[in-house]
Amino acid sequence: RRRSSAEPEFLQAVREVLETLEPVLAEHPEYIETGILERLVEPERQLIFRVPWTDDAGRVHVNRGYRVQFNSALGPYKGGLRFHPSVNLSVVKFLGFEQIFKNALTSQRIGGGKGGSDFDPSDKSDAEVMRFCQSFMTELVHHIGEHTDIPAGDIGVGGREIGYLFGQYRRITQRYEAGVLTGKGLGWGGAEVRTEATGYGAVFFAEEMLLRVGDGIEGRRAVVSGSGNVATYAIEKIQQLGGTAITASDSSGYIVDEAGVDVDLLKQVKEVERSRISVYAERRPGAHFVATGSVWDVKGELAFPCATQNELDAEHARSLIAGGLRAVAEGANMPATPEAVALFREAGVLFAPGKAANAGGVATSALEMSQNAARSRWDRDKSESRLRDIMRDVHASAYDASVRYGRPGDYVLGANSAAFETVAHAMLAQGVI
Ligand code: NDP
Repeated sequence: RRRSSAEPEFLQAVREVLETLEPVLAEHPEYIETGILERLVEPERQLIFRVPWTDDAGRVHVNRGYRVQFNSALGPYKGGLRFHPSVNLSVVKFLGFEQIFKNALTSQRIGGGKGGSDFDPSDKSDAEVMRFCQSFMTELVHHIGEHTDIPAGDIGVGGREIGYLFGQYRRITQRYEAGVLTGKGLGWGGAEVRTEATGYGAVFFAEEMLLRVGDGIEGRRAVVSGSGNVATYAIEKIQQLGGTAITASDSSGYIVDEAGVDVDLLKQVKEVERSRISVYAERRPGAHFVATGSVWDVKGELAFPCATQNELDAEHARSLIAGGLRAVAEGANMPATPEAVALFREAGVLFAPGKAANAGGVATSALEMSQNAARSRWDRDKSESRLRDIMRDVHASAYDASVRYGRPGDYVLGANSAAFETVAHAMLAQGVI
């Protein structure tokens, strides 16, 4: 705590995990005796570097780059890169810490890491984004590789950015090492369903939770935040399973579309034109845009927070619960505040924490790595059915652990304890390193 006093997001993520581990530690005193907890909260390595780049007018800018290589007990570091003005060491460390447990839940033998920069790609030209990515990779190249550390996308890092990063990696190393980055384009080493995997996976997880209590997605109204990679494909899968996703948002506000969000229009506005979400409402009869308040003011039976950390607080939780909420699946990382999570659990709302619900993205990244290593490519059906199986298994291990530790259906306890046991067991076996 003393060492990380200026890292609020990181401390929040650590507290959330440690508070639920009491029953595991009571059963396994050896994890305390061997300092597993102290080792787990300290990254194996943290890199901070200068990223200078030139804008279209010839002016020089300097951003800060990060890569936190948190834990490699289960495999090479794996986790995304985030480009957003809010990125700092605390944010990268919280994401890297969460990633250790998420990756353990996928059973794909990958360790945890995360990185990024306080660069904002949203108001830059393609050429500026390219020069920034090239500069970022010029340093990162020394620290990554298919057997050491494999970055992917996150907020502000999609297919365009991964392309520029990969091009520079290839140019500097003079090697076509496809497995060094995931989220690549389908024509040059990417995997089917990787783009969709996080959003689809969150909906699959919600479906598993609902099926367990004799319910499903079909016929239900869902409130979704965000309009990026995760939100878009969560909305798509909700509609495919017969539900109605009625909202989407960005940092300028949210839209409500009672008929169900038109996914093609959403993709056109956000992915192709890179416009604000209000443009969706301008073009879609019956939809309206709201610039004030929060998307969580809208009532629904299902909630999928898919934008960013701490976007859903206690007040939002109360309003959702009063509106008849049944289930929440976190597509984003740590979007619900601890107070909101406590309210959901007290009210008996099914609650899937991000490290379980959004694990489909990184799991499919691991499948991309396998395909790269085997120089093969799976078709869409096989890729989606593997994703579905993995999400079913993630759900089962979180649920089974919640039963084992006496609180059936408490997915926070279940996900944290199942993931911790896997990582701690490997760390114990590998000695004090
Ligand atoms: P994108 O950049 O594609 O989209 C992010 C969305 O969230 C945008 O609509 C953005 O709006 C909104 N948003 C971001 N920051 C803020 C903010 N501070 N306030 C309000 N809105 C904000 O990112 P992704 O969809 O990839 O990521 C979303 C979440 O999912 C993140 O928490 C990420 O860590 C998590 N995640 C992503 C995975 C992936 O595979 N991509 C895997 C697992 C988790 P605007 O454009 O206005 O900024």
